[in-house]
Amino acid sequence: MRLLQHINFQNQRAIIRVDFNVPLNDNLEVTDKTRIEAAKPTIDYILSQGGSCVLLSHLGRPKGNDPRLSLKNIVSDVSQILGVPVEFSETVVGAEAEAKANALQPGQVLLMENLRYHEEETAGDVSFSKQLAQLGTIYVNDAFGTAHRAHASTTIMAQYFNENKCFGALLAKEVEAIDKVMKDGESPIVAILGGAKVSSKITIIETLLDKVDHLIIGGGMVYTFTKALGGTVGNSICEPDYCDYALELLEKAKQKGVTIHLPVDVVAGNDFSNDAAQQIFDSNAIPEGWEGLDAGPKSREQFNELILKCRTILWNGPLGVFEFPNFSKGTIAIGDSIGAATKLGAFSLVGGGDSVAAVKQFGLASKMSYISTGGGAMLESLEGKTLPGIAALNV
Ligand code: AMP
Repeated sequence: MRLLQHINFQNQRAIIRVDFNVPLNDNLEVTDKTRIEAAKPTIDYILSQGGSCVLLSHLGRPKGNDPRLSLKNIVSDVSQILGVPVEFSETVVGAEAEAKANALQPGQVLLMENLRYHEEETAGDVSFSKQLAQLGTIYVNDAFGTAHRAHASTTIMAQYFNENKCFGALLAKEVEAIDKVMKDGESPIVAILGGAKVSSKITIIETLLDKVDHLIIGGGMVYTFTKALGGTVGNSICEPDYCDYALELLEKAKQKGVTIHLPVDVVAGNDFSNDAAQQIFDSNAIPEGWEGLDAGPKSREQFNELILKCRTILWNGPLGVFEFPNFSKGTIAIGDSIGAATKLGAFSLVGGGDSVAAVKQFGLASKMSYISTGGGAMLESLEGKTLPGIAALNV
């Protein structure tokens, strides 16, 4: 991995692909600045080495030049977080954009307009990529959230920089965290997979069977397995078309020496709502009129015991419908168990959409070793894929 420390930034103009795809409210104020803060170490480092920074990002999915998705809306936040004035360029490529970039002095920062105002960005257009490459002398990718896309700014433009390109600090941290689980995880390794459906996690499950010692399956996925094993699932979410596949997976796991752990009991509701009546059932004996919405108390206890024995922990997907407070106990308990194991010295990685949201919502973030910033990019990494943005930096 070519890192920031391997490159001399003195008097150089670094083009940094950052992920400033932040949420804005109706008043066009940034409501969560995490992504801007996450890019700060890379920018700070380059400025401290006597370089200047040209920041490239997308914001949302604009149709045309939608002013609500202009990066101009976030200039003051970026400036405040970085603690330096930030110039803005209303064009991304072309003479005017290049003139602004060329005028940068060491220590200065220029934010370019939303890349996705140009459809050439997501198309990975070569001549657009070449134009982007004109904006600086070194290319740094620090946008893990889009590293799974072969877009102009995330992948294609890297080819114009030979050795003058590297991983940003955030991207490097993400890759290291994933490698700590997928390549050189210390045993015992447990993956906890939750979420709604088996069908959306097939490749991840298959890949993980070659990496882990234990696999905890939770959330809505449970009921496809318990049905496949001959249980009754009542009204629980279930994918009968995947029952044969679930049995195949259990067999594969056995062959590979991976122990699969399903919840033995569940908290069921008589309706899909927070206020539904609750009852605890064995996970393979849910009567009609009830649906499993959370892991039960015995399961939480068993999962806790297992997690505390593990040295490497990966968590993706909630253990129940955590959006309903009355059915969030399983998800909170898993987070607590992972936090406790981490305190005992285990490495824990949380990644992919809803589990990250849950960890933040329940105040568990500081107890985890690493929380991934990328949803889709994280899921594709767990599927064992090499992300195009990362591959492009390594050539
Ligand atoms: P995913 O995007 O596949 O990780 O799924 C996350 C969603 O799964 C969350 O919105 C949860 O509410 C949902 N989920 C978790 N457990 C269940 C369950 N037992 N029944 C229905 N939905 C669930």
